[in-house]
Amino acid sequence: MKKAYIYIFSFGFITASVLFVLMGNSNEPQNDVQSPVKANPNRDTYYPMTEDLNPDEMRITSLGTGMPNQRPSQAAACFLVELGNGDKFLFDIGSGSTENLAALQIPYDYLDKLFIGHLHTDHFGDFGALYVGGLISGRTVPLRIWGPSGDRPERGTKYAIEHWRKALSWDVDGRAGRLPASGQVLEVHEFDYQGENQVIFEENDVVIRSFPAIHILDGPVSFSLEWNGLKFVFSSDTYPNKWLVEYAQNADVIIHECFITVDDLVEKMNFPIARALNVGTQIHTAPAAFGKVMSMTKPRMAIAYHFFNDFNTAPGVYEEIRSTYDGPLSMARDMMVWNVTKEDITVREIVFQESVWSPPLINYVEVDRSIMETESEWNLSGTLDVKEVIDKIYRITNEKYGTDIKPDVSN
Ligand SMILES: [Zn+2]
Ligand SMILES: [Zn+2]
Repeated sequence: MKKAYIYIFSFGFITASVLFVLMGNSNEPQNDVQSPVKANPNRDTYYPMTEDLNPDEMRITSLGTGMPNQRPSQAAACFLVELGNGDKFLFDIGSGSTENLAALQIPYDYLDKLFIGHLHTDHFGDFGALYVGGLISGRTVPLRIWGPSGDRPERGTKYAIEHWRKALSWDVDGRAGRLPASGQVLEVHEFDYQGENQVIFEENDVVIRSFPAIHILDGPVSFSLEWNGLKFVFSSDTYPNKWLVEYAQNADVIIHECFITVDDLVEKMNFPIARALNVGTQIHTAPAAFGKVMSMTKPRMAIAYHFFNDFNTAPGVYEEIRSTYDGPLSMARDMMVWNVTKEDITVREIVFQESVWSPPLINYVEVDRSIMETESEWNLSGTLDVKEVIDKIYRITNEKYGTDIKPDVSN
């Protein structure tokens, strides 16, 4: 190159510049991002709804990565897996997570498959919001739920969802005849929590298996999802266990719980030492133990979640993980995205609009209004006469859209 430069410069500056561009220069930036007028390639940020998912690609989004304690910056456990074949799967639906889900503006008819690892509220506390909120926001298909049995019927997923549905009687009854009945159906697939690597879902070339986890009581499970030669594993909550190490082998991505350090439990939450040690090392997976599990499974990307990921907590968690694991690692926060192909795994943060609207309806289903219930005559006897202003709205709206619709008071 040196000789070439000398030679080129003898032709004068302009010629040299042209030849520089043609030949390339190892001292110049490699990407063509220097233009004052062209768009720059987007390298570190994912903006929802702006990228195609390629046919061979898996996209994983963290919608909840925090702890059982509520905080605005981190919702509780929830991950979305989107596949290039069009399928989408939710793993856990922890409290607060549906707000992040809404920010992606994915039509709710595509969000009809939910897998629950165990029945702690930080893993299914937003079930009601997904069920009813999703219905209001356009879901016209049944919401399908997979979750484990318990050591007795009332500790299983079926019982939990049936009784949650009962608690929503007033809400759901009032929507009958107003919103599509098909979107109000819940389909619960409860499977044996003791099953080892058992297939619990097999559709469209996607296979999802469950295996036992160790967490508080009998019942919790972890999941693997395999599709198109890619393997994703989600622990939900568990103490390090032999099943995950065995059934997460050859995984491309493993999302495994990793709790806050014992020191932080003492200092931030004022836990007595004995309680901090119990919660931080026995009920949950300590960071160094997380690292041990990753060293035994060697995923292409290890994702640690279930800790408050702050400037003053992350270094402690990271240091402990690195004492036992030196492979690829993501310290999860809410709204990160991993694009996974056989060749590559990219990790980015998501920038999103907070004041989002629901996604536009993609399916319109005729509603059977004959089953609609309304307020009683007694209740309606309290209505004020605002006919004049309402009639004006009807007149303006019908003129604008060329219609002739005048609903009665309860519609
Ligand atoms: Zn838990
Ligand atoms: Zn948890």
